[in-house]
Amino acid sequence: MLDFVVSHIEEPEVDNLDRKLELARADIRDEYLQNHNTPWIIGFSGGKDSTLVLQLVVETLLELPPSDRRRPVHVVSNDTLVEAPVVADHVERVLLRVRNGVEAMHLPVTVVKTAPKADQTFWVNLIGRGYPSPSRTFRWCTDRMKIQPTSHYIKNKVAESGQVILLLGVRKEESATRAVSVNRYSNGQRLNDHNDLQGCKVFRPVVNFTTDEVWQTLLQRRPPWGGSHRELITLYREGQGAECPLVLSKDDAPSCGTSSSRFGCWTCTVVVKDRSMAGFIEAGHANHEQLMDFRDWLAEIRNDPDRRMARRRSGRATHLPDGSLVPGPFTLAARREILDRLLEVERQSGRELISTDEVETIKYLWATDAASVMSTAGSGNEGGEA
Ligand code: SF4
Repeated sequence: MLDFVVSHIEEPEVDNLDRKLELARADIRDEYLQNHNTPWIIGFSGGKDSTLVLQLVVETLLELPPSDRRRPVHVVSNDTLVEAPVVADHVERVLLRVRNGVEAMHLPVTVVKTAPKADQTFWVNLIGRGYPSPSRTFRWCTDRMKIQPTSHYIKNKVAESGQVILLLGVRKEESATRAVSVNRYSNGQRLNDHNDLQGCKVFRPVVNFTTDEVWQTLLQRRPPWGGSHRELITLYREGQGAECPLVLSKDDAPSCGTSSSRFGCWTCTVVVKDRSMAGFIEAGHANHEQLMDFRDWLAEIRNDPDRRMARRRSGRATHLPDGSLVPGPFTLAARREILDRLLEVERQSGRELISTDEVETIKYLWATDAASVMSTAGSGNEGGEA
């Protein structure tokens, strides 16, 4: 789909773009040279916008004399552990290149990957606790898998340094929702308070760039950490222009798992159709087909009453105002069925989809639930909880 994007780049508003780039870099440089040592954290999703921010920051650091490169910069990338394999591989390769590059260039940059807590991964919640596959009305995943891991890292840095500056690749043009959110929190200053994270200021160096300008810049410039942006371009072309940005607050969350269909978790049952997965399959990533079939099956069984418990794991039953029962988590039998099928898909696709640690945590949760079901059955109470 990048063909589409590129073909819409109008004859270079080069002057304009050059001027915009000059201003963005001047802004970055000026902010970096402020007379304090507040660390910078770059939220890096591996998508085009955060790649551009990272590139502009690294280029700016390289232009500074080594004695001025005093402020620590953290490049933070979150891995939900259920990223589409082709996206996960891309991000992994870029992070490795950036890590090696900044080390060789002696820049004060640390590359970090965050992930959900071991007991809060997608599989532990879905298969271990039996949470139904996420939907628009019960989207339990975004907070646990995206917001909390990165927020936790930022809060730790705030605790160490008193304050952090978070650089994000958000742009007004990205979407109507994003434009509203950008405007709502913009105070006309370079730095804005983060809506949810105390001590965290937000800096958006490319907020006024258009999509075409982002692509044009990336097409014209090689990344200073080596390699090229070719792989990123291919990824977008194959994934049909979708992207899942770093999600740091519930304001960002509407873009996660919606019909705007960005690169998201391969397991996402919130979207009706995962366009990026379909694009990857069409482009020849055959092993994504088994994954997409599995995801479709997860969506299908979500509302099967035979696979859902009548009560929540706590034993409580929840009723709607009309008196009907809200189904509880997946039954233990359904959870076993999901794990068996997942392990079969893993074997067929030749790629690890669930870790041994997750399987162990899941089995522990099953044992706990089974014991709780037996004890509540003995006391006349029948069930479990979500
Ligand atoms: S992409 Fe889908 S599954 Fe992943 S966190 Fe967002 S809504 Fe949840």
